[in-house]
Amino acid sequence: MSRLVMKFGGTSVADLERIRRVARIVAAEAARRPVAVVVSAMAGKTNELVAWTDGAGGAAAGLPMSDDEYDVVVASGEQVTAGLLAMVLRNMGVPARSWLGWQVPIYTDDAHGRARFDEIPPEKLVAAMDGGEVAVIAGFQGMTRDGRITTVGRGGSDTTAVAIAAAVGAGSCDIYTDVDGVYTTDPRIESKARRLARISYEEMLEMASLGAKVLSTRSVEMAMARNVPVRVLSSFAEPGESDGQGTIVCDEEEIVEKRIVSGVAFSRDEAKISLYGLPDHPGVSREIFGRLADANVNVDMIVQSHAHREGAANMEFTVGKRDAARAVEVVRAAKDIIGFDDVAVDEDVAKVSVIGVGMRSHAGVAKTMFGALADKGVNIQVISTSEIKISVLIDAAYTELAVRALHAAYGLDRL
Ligand code: ADP
Ligand code: ASP
Ligand code: MG
Repeated sequence: MSRLVMKFGGTSVADLERIRRVARIVAAEAARRPVAVVVSAMAGKTNELVAWTDGAGGAAAGLPMSDDEYDVVVASGEQVTAGLLAMVLRNMGVPARSWLGWQVPIYTDDAHGRARFDEIPPEKLVAAMDGGEVAVIAGFQGMTRDGRITTVGRGGSDTTAVAIAAAVGAGSCDIYTDVDGVYTTDPRIESKARRLARISYEEMLEMASLGAKVLSTRSVEMAMARNVPVRVLSSFAEPGESDGQGTIVCDEEEIVEKRIVSGVAFSRDEAKISLYGLPDHPGVSREIFGRLADANVNVDMIVQSHAHREGAANMEFTVGKRDAARAVEVVRAAKDIIGFDDVAVDEDVAKVSVIGVGMRSHAGVAKTMFGALADKGVNIQVISTSEIKISVLIDAAYTELAVRALHAAYGLDRL
C-alpha cells in the first residue's frame, strides 16, 4: 500500500490522554502501510513560547520577526509532542522514532519566523517508514543550510505535513484536527454549518487565506502545486470510524455536485487605515504602496474616493492587525512627500467573504451578498472581489451576524 502522512494539530495532542488516542489511530494505519506522522505543539504551548520571546525582547511587538533565537524557542513545543508520541507508540509495541526538522533534514530559507520550505531529502525518512518504523516528525520547524533552526509561520505544521507528503510521494496527506472536515463556515460561529465531502484546491486556498484556519494557506498552496491529495479528518473519532468521512481537497474536475457558493470565511485580524486629503494626481499610490512594500507590510483591500475638497482624494486600505502600527509609521514619516492632511486607524473591523468557483459563471452572487447584509443593517466599508470570491470589510461587532446571514442567504445550511 502507498505511504501515508498523518498530521495532528494542537488540540489533538493537548495532553497524554489525547496523545494515546492519536497513537491508537496511528497504530491502526501503521499496521497496513508505511506511515509518517507530523505533530504540532500541545494546544496553547506555542502562544506561551511566543510570549516568553516577547518578554525577552526577541521579536519586539510590531517589528518584523527576523530573530533566529525566536525560532529556537518557539520550535521547542513540537519537540515535546514528537518525543511523547513516539514513546507511547513504542509502549504499544509499534516501532517508532521522533524526527526533528534538522534530523530529517527539512531545509528552509533563512526568513526566521516565516521561513519557506526549500528541500527535503526523503531518503532517510523513506528508509525508516518502509522498514516498518513510524516516523514521528516535529511540525512547524526546519533548518537553514548553515544549520540554524527555523519555523515556518503560525499554523505551519499543516504545511510541514504536505511538504513531507510531497517529499516521500505519499498517496494521501491526512490532516486530523478538532473538527471532522471542512465546513461551509466555521462551525464554532454557525451551528448550521455543513461538512463538505469535497472542496477544490482553489476554493480551499481562498477559504484559508480569507480566515478559515482549518488548513494553513501555504499547505493548500503546496498541495495544489505538488498535487498532494489532502483529507481533513477528526482526531476524536475512534480508529476506523473516519473511513469515508471527512473532507477531500481535490481538483475541481473531481467534484460532481456543482455549487455556486461553497463557503463563508471571516477574519478579525484586520485593520483599516484611512488617508485624508491626498493630492489627486498620478504617482500618489506608487508613493504610498511602494513605501509599504519596502517596509514588508502586506496590503490587502484598497479603495480610493474623491474628497469634498476639489482636486483631493481619500484612500482607505487594510493590513493585518500586527502590521497596523508600522504601516502608520511608514506613511507618517513620508507625510510631506505623499502630501495628505490626516491619517486614521480603525482596528474594530472584520473581513467577511463568500467563496465559490460557481461565481465564474453565475451572475447575482454579489447582489445576494449585499442584499443579505443590508437586510441586517450591516454597513459595508470596503469591497474587494476576485474570480471566485467577494470580500467586504465591516464593523467587527457584526461579524457573527453577517456570517450567519450570508450562510443562510446562499442556502448553505441546506446543502
Ligand atoms: P489544529 O490545531 O488541528 O491545527 P486549528 O485550530 O488550526 O486546528 O483549525 C481547526 C479549527 O478551524 C476548527 O476548530 C474551526 O473552529 C476552525 N475553522 C474555521 N473555519 C472552518 C471551516 N470552514 N471548516 C472547519 N473548521 C473551520
Ligand atoms: N504550533 C504551531 C502554532 O501554534 C504550529 C501549528 O500548530 O501548526 O502555530
Ligand atoms: Mg492549524
